[in-house]
Amino acid sequence: MKYGRSYNFSAGPAMMPEEVLEEIAAEMMNYHGSGMCVMEMSHRSPVFQEIRDRAEADLRKLMDIPDNYKVLFVQGGGTTQFAMVPMNLMKNGVACYIETGAWSKKAINEAKKYGEVQIVASSADKNFTYVPDCSQLDIPDNADYVYICENETIHGTTYHQLPDTKGKVLVADQSSMFLSRPCKVSDYCLIWAGVQKNVGPAGMAVVIIREDLLREDLPQFVPTYLNYKTHADADSLYNTPNCWSIYCCGKVFQYLLKHGGLEAQAQRNQEKAAVLYDYLDKSHLFTAAVAPQDRSLMNVPFVTPSKEQDAAVVEAAKAAGFDNLKGHKSVGGLRASIYNAMPKEGVEALVDFLRKYENAHC
Ligand code: PMP
Repeated sequence: MKYGRSYNFSAGPAMMPEEVLEEIAAEMMNYHGSGMCVMEMSHRSPVFQEIRDRAEADLRKLMDIPDNYKVLFVQGGGTTQFAMVPMNLMKNGVACYIETGAWSKKAINEAKKYGEVQIVASSADKNFTYVPDCSQLDIPDNADYVYICENETIHGTTYHQLPDTKGKVLVADQSSMFLSRPCKVSDYCLIWAGVQKNVGPAGMAVVIIREDLLREDLPQFVPTYLNYKTHADADSLYNTPNCWSIYCCGKVFQYLLKHGGLEAQAQRNQEKAAVLYDYLDKSHLFTAAVAPQDRSLMNVPFVTPSKEQDAAVVEAAKAAGFDNLKGHKSVGGLRASIYNAMPKEGVEALVDFLRKYENAHC
């Protein structure tokens, strides 16, 4: 790779498109004749306003976001959304969650602080290696919303079909699959995504929320900053926003538009993931952990027969220039995160490495 960069399989923060990094580097010292870097710029300046507005407009174009949805740039990463969702959406105090792994569990535990949580489907019985059938969910009439983590980063599962919420509000954490494939926004009422996997620098979430969910009448205890309406009313400039992240995310939105939009990106992601899964399914040393129909195209967990061998492969891979292949500490094994910016050559090179390792050790 150029600049001595390594193929970085981290689950996040993750690789950015090289073309985007080069553009950012070129604009670092003096953004478009403004005499300053975007990091140094007032968030109230016309030049930053233009950066923010363009980022939103480009995201709207990319995802074809309907006019009755607001786009918000909110600080606090993904984790803040675990609290903001129940704080803002629990009116009756009852919410349904689908439990598919570590990130939905975190969301569930946070929501329990604000009301009653009903787990209406779970894949805990098989260590979260599949997505449960969500076609016949038992959703109470007074449920305020149904919540999913659409791609479980640690376990490597993804929904290929959305749950039937019986007309209730659907909320999705799309952090680890945001902008990886076309998405019909009107199928959801709220989509949120921490940006540090597929879009930009950590610390911010993009929230896409249907306007009728914005509320004046939140309980007193809800901090002003954690009311979605605060951000909607101020065009995400209520306080000093994460200007740098908004700028970098905007660059990635432009990049995706330039390279064929989400259809083309989905095609590239399918091809990349197929290279890895095809190899894993034929391998005598490695096994892909997830049921084929529920596999993520972004996070690919796999194992060898022993923990010792898992660790040995991670170490050998690192020495060969493939970084961050260790599985999450809660599940072990290996995991290759192959987000939008991972080039196909990176996955092909990894497979080549794994094949040679297998031939040498089997
Ligand atoms: N949701 C998912 C699916 C994630 O993968 C992560 C982070 N890995 C989070 C939420 C939490 O995001 P953050 O670290 O930005 O709080």
